[in-house]
Amino acid sequence: MLIHHHPTDELLSAYCAGSLPLSQALCLSAHIEMCKTCQTNSQRLSQLGAYIFNHTKPATVNNDLKEKIFSQLDQRPYHLKTTERKSMAAGHASAEVPKCLKQFVASNYDELNWHRVSFAIRQANICTGGNGAQVSLMRIKAGGKAGLHTHMGNEFTTVLKGAFSDESGLFQQGDFVVRDSQHKHRPAATKDSECICLTVLEAPIQFTGYFTRWLNPLLRRGYPSA
Ligand SMILES: [Zn+2]
Repeated sequence: MLIHHHPTDELLSAYCAGSLPLSQALCLSAHIEMCKTCQTNSQRLSQLGAYIFNHTKPATVNNDLKEKIFSQLDQRPYHLKTTERKSMAAGHASAEVPKCLKQFVASNYDELNWHRVSFAIRQANICTGGNGAQVSLMRIKAGGKAGLHTHMGNEFTTVLKGAFSDESGLFQQGDFVVRDSQHKHRPAATKDSECICLTVLEAPIQFTGYFTRWLNPLLRRGYPSA
C-alpha cells in the first residue's frame, strides 16, 4: 500500500502522548494500522517519551493532589458513545476493516445503518466523541461527487477503501487528511471503485454550492451545539 499523506509530527506526538480526543485518536489509529512509516515513527516517539519521562526530575506534590490523582485512576475511563450496534463477532471482522473499528463494524461495512446524504454519498454515524465530534463512515459511489463545501471546524479523514480526489490532489487507501474552515473543496471518488472514509467532524460541514445548500440543515443533526 502506497501512502502519501500522513499526520503531522505534532499530531502524531499528541497521539503517542495520549493527549488527543478519542475521536481524533481513532482516525489516527486507522491510518497507523495501514502505514508502516507512522508505525515506526510512533514507536520512536513513544520510546522518546518514555526516555524523557524517566529522566525528568519528579515534582513534589501535596497529599491532597496525590489522593485526587489516585482516585481518578480508579475511575472508569471515558469511552466513545457508540451510535451503532456493537460487534457481535469482534474476531471475524473483514480484512479491510481496521482493528480499531472492530467494536463498530462486526464483519463488513454493508451491515451498518447507512443513510443517504445525496445520490452519490451515504453516511453511517458510528459514535460521538466527548468533545461533540461526530465520527462517521462516508461512502461515495465510484465516480460520485460530493457538493462543494467548507468546514465549520476541523475534519479528520482516513481513507479506508478506494480513493478520492479534490482540488488538493489524490487521496488513496490509508491516506490521512485534515481539513479546516480555510478549505473549500469538492471531493470525488475515482471511477474504478467506491470510496469509504472514516471521518471525524468537529462541526458539520457547510455546503456552499447553489444546488446543495439545502442539505446543510440535514447535516447539522446530531451536533449538540448546532
Ligand atoms: Zn503515516
